[in-house]
Order: sequence, then C-alpha cells, then structure tokens
Amino acid sequence: MAEQKRDYYEVLGVDKNADEAAIKKAYRALAKKYHPDMNPGDAEAEKKFKEASEAYAVLSDADKRRQYDQYGHAAFDGGAGGAGGFDFSGADFGDIFGDIFGDFFGGGGRRTGGARNNGPMKGANLRTSVRITFEEAVFGCKKEIELTVKETCKTCNGSGAKPGTSPETCSKCGGKGQVVFTQQSFFGTVRNVQACPDCQGTGKVIKEKCADCRGTGYIPMKKRYSVDIPAGIDNGQSTRMPGLGEPGTNGGPRGDVLVEVIVSRHPIFQRQDMNIYSTVPVSFAVAALGGEIFIDTVDGKVIYDVKAGTQTDTKVRLKGKGVPSWRNREIRGDHYVTLVVQVPDKLSNEAKELLKKFDEATMDSLTAVQRATGSDKDTDGKDGKDGKDGKDGKKKKFWK
Ligand SMILES: [Zn+2]
Ligand SMILES: [Zn+2]
Repeated sequence: MAEQKRDYYEVLGVDKNADEAAIKKAYRALAKKYHPDMNPGDAEAEKKFKEASEAYAVLSDADKRRQYDQYGHAAFDGGAGGAGGFDFSGADFGDIFGDIFGDFFGGGGRRTGGARNNGPMKGANLRTSVRITFEEAVFGCKKEIELTVKETCKTCNGSGAKPGTSPETCSKCGGKGQVVFTQQSFFGTVRNVQACPDCQGTGKVIKEKCADCRGTGYIPMKKRYSVDIPAGIDNGQSTRMPGLGEPGTNGGPRGDVLVEVIVSRHPIFQRQDMNIYSTVPVSFAVAALGGEIFIDTVDGKVIYDVKAGTQTDTKVRLKGKGVPSWRNREIRGDHYVTLVVQVPDKLSNEAKELLKKFDEATMDSLTAVQRATGSDKDTDGKDGKDGKDGKDGKKKKFWK
C-alpha cells in the first residue's frame, strides 16, 4: 500500500467508543458536505467522500468494526497486498442516502462505485467459506475451494450476440450506458445519473442472443482454487482473493473472492483474540512437592516446572505461545494455562494407608471430628472416606 490510510475514527471525527448513532451522524454530515454530486468536478471532495464512506462501511458494521479495532486496515487487505477497490458489500447506505438525497442510489443495487459511474465497473465479489482447524487458523494454511465462476463464453467471445451478428448501440442512452435526470431535493436540483435500464449500462443491446450463454457473454464454470489462509485469522474473518470474482462491466476488472473461515473447536485450547487458554491437570504430589509437567501448546509439548506448594487454579503464562498477529506473524500472543490440582479418586489399599500416614504427619485432619467430640469410633478405611458407608451420612447430621 503506497498511500498511508487515515484511521477510520479520525476520518469520521468520532472517538473509539462512539456508538452506532454517533457514527451515523458523523458520516451523514460528511456525506452531505463531500458528495460528488454536490461538488461536481472536485476531485478532493470525491476523495473525502470515498474515504468517509469506507470508514462508515466498516465502523457501522459490528463485525468489521471489531476486526478493524483488532487489526487496523490490515484486516481488510486479506494479506494479498490490497486489491485497490474497497469492498462495500454488506454496508447499508440505503437509509442514509435515502434521508439525504431521496432515493438517490435507488435501483443501483449494491454495485461498488454506484450508479453514476459509467466507466469500467468492477465486478461483484463472490463469497464462500471454508472450515479449518484451530491450528490451521493459528499458523495459516492452504485450502482448496470450489467456486462457480462466470467465464467468458467462447462461442461469442463474450459479446453475448449470436455468432455472425453483433450487439447494437442502445437507442435509449445512445450508447452512453447511462441516463441523466434531475430530481428536487432540499439541496435544490440534483442531477442524477443512473445506469441505463435498457442496456444495464453497457451501451449495447443484443438483438439475437448467443445460444450458449443466452446473451450474457459468460458461462458459469466450476473452478478450483488454492487459498492462502493467513496465520492468525479468527473464526468469522475473511481472506480476500483479488480479481477472481464476478466479471466487471464495460471492461472493468473482476470482483474479488472473499473466503470466510469457520474454525473448528479444539478439544483443549480456547482462543480469545491472540491469546490461547487451556487447563492442565497436576497431580497432588507434583503440586505439593514441585516438579516438571508437560503442557500442550500449539507448538507442541513444553516442559513446565511447577513450584512446590502450587494451589489449584493457579494461572501461568507461556509467553509467545499464543496466536500470531495477522499483520506480523513474528508477534504472538500468550498461552494462559490454569493448573488444576487433581484429587485421586481410585486409591489402592497401600496408597490409602500411606495417605493416612501422610495425614497424621501433617494436619491430622481425618480424626479431627472424633477428637473434638470424644467419639471412640474406629477410623479404619472402611468407614467414611470411600463414601459407601451409610453411617457417614448420619455422622454429618451431628451439625444440624
Ligand atoms: Zn455466448
Ligand atoms: Zn442504454
């Protein structure tokens, strides 16, 4: 990207916490001021209008705004160096322009560039999705996708006219591809330009259609592509494949393909932004005495030295074992591990005896109640501790 892009919040003049209404209000004011039809021939105004529209398209969409807050402009470059055209699809300008200009862009659909653009127009974007694993999202991967793409019809070479005939100049627009009409608005008379409804902006009308493509000039074909999924991508985010989308009109470039990733759940790891979270069991002995344990990370097992006297729910940070930044894969988040001390539930008789000895040597907790109440009940392993003994329940009623 040769040109430094301004921060979207700065463009709209709102702060980072601005709510939906404030963003809309700010954009509405800028759109009024800089709209190209209010400033004919003013390239600077047009630039400002586009800049503000792009900022609004992102910040008015909760998903895109979240991506932008996290990754900045890189969130929409798709790691492919930027395709030039910003993808406005999904953004809803309808009610804003509806308010300002009447039904100004009406009928123009969601075409990038709007109806006033009679020149080459970029084709629509195609969207698809692909399922990837947790690790693939963390480290990036290549995936095959299949798409139905419109290819130029070989029979008519894309003209859409029956072989031997050729498209004729549209009589409604005289081949210009656009029709002009004026409209009254509270700004005064607005000159409104729209794509010609007879020829859909192509300037040409086909009298005898090519049978193979039925006059469209294109034939849908299934194609396979290999997609580079960038490291650090998260569930619901998309990567862009420039120039592989729908064909443009009037010689415009193809749109892009946006590939949304759906990240499968991982049995151990959870992710939030660039950090990974997991829990790891630690035996009572290791927690008490200290010792080495294996911890699973996305980089494989690491050895971690548990400190003596570690309590359950202790959280440790494995620095740099998290998810790489989408912008710079050298920068990685952290992996937070919660150590959960395990209480043994299946003990051999030998282990039970040892544990009783251990208890006597430490807190002497097993006989604390008897000592306090003067009970002479015996305390061998068959009573109480294994939970199968009904008397154990009765004993507890003592407290009520
Ligand atoms: Zn054809
Ligand atoms: Zn026409």
